[in-house]
Amino acid sequence: MRITCPICGERGVAEFVYGGDATIERPPLDAPAEDWQRAIYARENPRGSHAEYWQHAHGCRAWLRVERDTATHAIASVALVGRRAGEGGQ
Ligand SMILES: [Zn+2]
Repeated sequence: MRITCPICGERGVAEFVYGGDATIERPPLDAPAEDWQRAIYARENPRGSHAEYWQHAHGCRAWLRVERDTATHAIASVALVGRRAGEGGQ
């Protein structure tokens, strides 16, 4: 699999580290423990299009939101997230 980093260009997946499910919404700090347990530990294992966080750990270290098909690994979009999101990208 290859990921096109908006800063560095297309790179092999070995340069990236998976950062988790990008669809999880964190509950408010005062939410019940059950809500936090579900947000932290409960995960879907979807087949098809899925949003994920990846970090270009062995490159520019930027965090990316990647829309990837979990069955084919086809990547539909890559976008910067966090502080670097305003620096460019797709
Ligand atoms: Zn990069």
